[in-house]
Amino acid sequence: MSRSLAVVVRSDACLLHVPGAEVWVGVSTPGTELPERAVRIEAALRGAGHRTVESTRHDDSVLLRVHDLRLVEHLRTVHERWMASPIPELVGQDRVVPYLMPTAGMLDGLPEREPTAVHAAAGRYCYDTMTLVGPGTWEAARAAVDVTLSAVDLVVAGEPLAYALARPPGHHVTRSAYGGSCYLNNAAVAAQALRDAGHERVAVVDVDAHHGNGTQAVFYERADVFYGSLHVDPGAGWFPHYTGFADETGRGDGAGANLNIPLAEGTGDDAWLGALDRVADAVAAHGCTALVVSLGVDAAAADPESPVQVSHDAYESAGRRLAALDLPTVAVQEGGYHLDTLGDLVAVTLRGLAG
Ligand SMILES: [Zn+2]
Repeated sequence: MSRSLAVVVRSDACLLHVPGAEVWVGVSTPGTELPERAVRIEAALRGAGHRTVESTRHDDSVLLRVHDLRLVEHLRTVHERWMASPIPELVGQDRVVPYLMPTAGMLDGLPEREPTAVHAAAGRYCYDTMTLVGPGTWEAARAAVDVTLSAVDLVVAGEPLAYALARPPGHHVTRSAYGGSCYLNNAAVAAQALRDAGHERVAVVDVDAHHGNGTQAVFYERADVFYGSLHVDPGAGWFPHYTGFADETGRGDGAGANLNIPLAEGTGDDAWLGALDRVADAVAAHGCTALVVSLGVDAAAADPESPVQVSHDAYESAGRRLAALDLPTVAVQEGGYHLDTLGDLVAVTLRGLAG
């Protein structure tokens, strides 16, 4: 399949989400998942000569095959409900931040009632305190889904490679819970849309520094979407802590369709690319006919969030190795937080993916 450049899909609406802050171990710190990320990436890709197109509006049908309707409705309405509650005036908080999560252990089998207070409802679908909802969050997250679905449309129409400049990112969102600076799972939406377009088996390869627990969870019991990820070892104390272990290989019909390769802190290019090769081999063995790349560039050495030490050259090489699978490919932006380098990291990876 001949490729020269990627088609880049973008939307101004992806800039509308401004985290305001992240609350980590009880301490409010400035967020790192900033609108500027998308601005920098787009500038780098325009500079590299990629064609850029605007996203088009899509309905919720694919989104609701990936996510529980209650999660989607919660995200759509929760900020408005929060601002109508006493909280903003009482404590000056204009972002939705959970303070209580109704865990299975708390409810102990009792039904989960709809709480009266929106500050209690805030913890129903959010599993951490780092992922705040502000006035533009829903619009941006939903726009990222449109960006992603528009990229899928291009590939279904015959483009060999499309890149979704999706922001906020998505791979930490499960069917019914969000977190990890993610709200809606763009990569899972891409995989489902490729399935709906007739691909019998689709692969998601996740090169973000962190395990894509959400994408894994969405497809964990399905054989038709293979999920493979290389990421820093959650067992060494890294987010998402509870998932991403090598013994998570899928369940039921999905047994054998999930591959996690946890990597030690400080892992460099050779071991990282070796892990990528294992994932690529598994994609080929699984008989996939389309590929989604969860393109996080936070495994790069310069990234403030990264315990892994991957170079720009290795990201380009990763792109080339995935291009060798010769599959129609949708790359979806995930993490990457070092503003001065992330645009170039995405550009070199796309250059590799373009083959
Ligand atoms: Zn990450």
